[in-house]
Amino acid sequence: MAKVANIHFAVDPWKIIENGFDPSYSRVGESIFSLGNESIGVRGCFEEGGSVDSLRGAYINGVYDLADIDRSYRGIVEKVHFMIPAADWLDTAITLDGEALDLGKVQYRDFVRTLDLRDGTLTRSFIWKTASGKELKLTFVRFLDMVHRERAYVRVVLEALNFSGSIVFQSGLSFQTVHEGRKTCFWNEPKRFADGNRLMLQAKTIRSEQTVFVGASVDLPQDAAVLTEEKSIRLSASVPLIKGEPRAIDKHVVVLFDGGEGDALWERGETALTACGRISFEEAAKAQTAYWDAYWAVSDIVIEPASGNEKTVALEQQGIRYCSFQLAQTYNGGSMRHNIGAKGLTGEAYNGHAFWDTESCCLPFYLFTNPNAAKDLLLFRYNTLPMAKERAKMLDCRGACYPIATLNGDEACPLWQHASLQLQPSTAVAYGIWHYVKITEDREFLYQYGAEMLVEIARFLESRVALGSRTKQYGFYGVMGPDEFHLMVNNNAYTNYMGKRTFRYAAETLETLKKQAPAQYAALCEKTGVTDADAQRWTEIADRMYLPIGGDGLIEQHDGFFDLPHTDIDAIPVTDFPLYEHWSYDRIYRTDMIKQPDVLMMLYLYNSSFSEAVKRRNYEYYQPRTIHESSLSPAIHSILAAELGQMEEAMDLFGFATRLDLDDYNRNTREGLHITSIAMAWANIVYGFAGLRSDGDLLRFAPRLPDRWSALRFSLTYRGRVIEVRMTREKTIFRLSSGEPLLVRIYGDEVTLTECECSVPMQ
Ligand code: BGC
Repeated sequence: MAKVANIHFAVDPWKIIENGFDPSYSRVGESIFSLGNESIGVRGCFEEGGSVDSLRGAYINGVYDLADIDRSYRGIVEKVHFMIPAADWLDTAITLDGEALDLGKVQYRDFVRTLDLRDGTLTRSFIWKTASGKELKLTFVRFLDMVHRERAYVRVVLEALNFSGSIVFQSGLSFQTVHEGRKTCFWNEPKRFADGNRLMLQAKTIRSEQTVFVGASVDLPQDAAVLTEEKSIRLSASVPLIKGEPRAIDKHVVVLFDGGEGDALWERGETALTACGRISFEEAAKAQTAYWDAYWAVSDIVIEPASGNEKTVALEQQGIRYCSFQLAQTYNGGSMRHNIGAKGLTGEAYNGHAFWDTESCCLPFYLFTNPNAAKDLLLFRYNTLPMAKERAKMLDCRGACYPIATLNGDEACPLWQHASLQLQPSTAVAYGIWHYVKITEDREFLYQYGAEMLVEIARFLESRVALGSRTKQYGFYGVMGPDEFHLMVNNNAYTNYMGKRTFRYAAETLETLKKQAPAQYAALCEKTGVTDADAQRWTEIADRMYLPIGGDGLIEQHDGFFDLPHTDIDAIPVTDFPLYEHWSYDRIYRTDMIKQPDVLMMLYLYNSSFSEAVKRRNYEYYQPRTIHESSLSPAIHSILAAELGQMEEAMDLFGFATRLDLDDYNRNTREGLHITSIAMAWANIVYGFAGLRSDGDLLRFAPRLPDRWSALRFSLTYRGRVIEVRMTREKTIFRLSSGEPLLVRIYGDEVTLTECECSVPMQ
């Protein structure tokens, strides 16, 4: 399918650079230049706003408001929650000779915007020429503190190029922020305070009653005036400038979100602001650079070009670093209240919701770069177990049904087809627990948290599974698998298989828990009412689960799939995409065209459990039927294609993985970044081209270097070790830079990795 790159940003190994401002590309730029530190995020909007096209958004992880849905059938959600833009702390206004700075209106030149991936700073500079002929060079620098995650910094450097005189500089905070999609400001009138150079606001959301504190200290002359408007506050001062002498104005910001502490938040906010104000911009920037240095030391992926491919590989190198940077900004662990929104903190689309993408697509990146963060993601699911249990009740089921879309643990998807029929969020949580424990051997987590989630998920699945009249085996009826183009289907192979594995894992976990930690087992039985009989039944169901696999290994996606009329997806005009926007809703459900991997998804997740022949047969059947309408889709296919030695196809599918957003392939980056696709870009390289498999008894590697690369280098953290991997055209060199020797399998052979280099010829 034709997707066209729009190469707008300059290519650089460590920077994203925009030379010149194209107003028609303003929103894409805002998404690309988003900054985040998991707790807070901000789009790359101009501090001074103005009349340029913009989706102005500063977000806080976990901050949302609510809306009712008309009561309809039982089981359909009655209320949704959605992320809202929180306090606008960028707010700035600059006036010179009565002319307001607005890049939509004034004359300017030499516009350059740069995101530096090595220190997380976003810098924008240009020269403004006023109607009166004055030239002022402005440089805006901002970054979000990756350690003190309530802090953000903005510096504005003003340099009068051909005059000496004053400008009027205003810097503020505002809760006037409007959710663009819902055309509503969701903030009540805030509590406020201002003195010479400090501003503080605290406001509550209208329905969810969440409280947010925002404070700023601004380095303006002490006599700055305080300007107050509805829901906002500003300091305003006349700032003298001397020709040729740059003047910096720093703004230190803190943003805090209340977990229920009410008035104490104000005090906490004030203290945090004072602490933040004690550190200079330079000191904070230095600490930030140290943070990113440490990050890149373990998380960088380096790609070197084969001769003649320098240009393409430079794009890929920049792309993969950008993906890795954005992923770390979106989530890096530490708060059990956070998850990974499909758009992160970069836009309103998808309502800030996290999906099953977290466990099925994003988790591996964290498992191998930051396992504590992986654990925190699973603890989010543990903390939201009560909501998942409520949801199961709404569906007339038992146990816990995890939501397809959520910010706070409640199901927030108003489309019943997805919210009620998709069991993959629940099986993905079970898979995530299994994968996490396999990689980390963190039995304590399994016994204390994982086991309880597994019990409740297995219970839910048990109340949803049924014995088929024809098959005389268990299966799930009336479901929607990962392929969302077929709904209300029976015996979806993915759902059946993931259910089977969940039942078995839940039963096995109970058995080991009982043997190894009897007191914890007793406590779990007491808390959940689970018994030995439950575990026995789950094993029986797992043993008798129906998997529609033919003699030749071809798995039927669901009952009747092979009877569906065939569509040649290559004949669909490119202008028909995205299909949801161009085809009537029902039209996309009637053929064998599929949206994203379904059978192949399970072959990817439980890769070691299927033979190469089964993978090949199914890949060959499903690949030509898949239109990759979900951005997580091509990477899964690319990884399997590489495993099957179909490198050309693997590379075609990888083609835009690292640059989906940078080059706006899907023509919707303006709405925010595709965080799952960003996570899958990492997986596409590590699982795809280094051939990592992490679902077997040992870690496995089967390196295959794409023709256009001469080398690939990355490292993985694994059970207290750092594994360095260096692939060249001739060989792959493995080495542990720290930790005990490790037995792995490389191209099927067992090899012990140590601190000495282990060189394996390329196959
Ligand atoms: C996909 C889902 C995914 C969601 C969020 C949809 O387009 O079909 O599988 O969970 O996007 O990324």
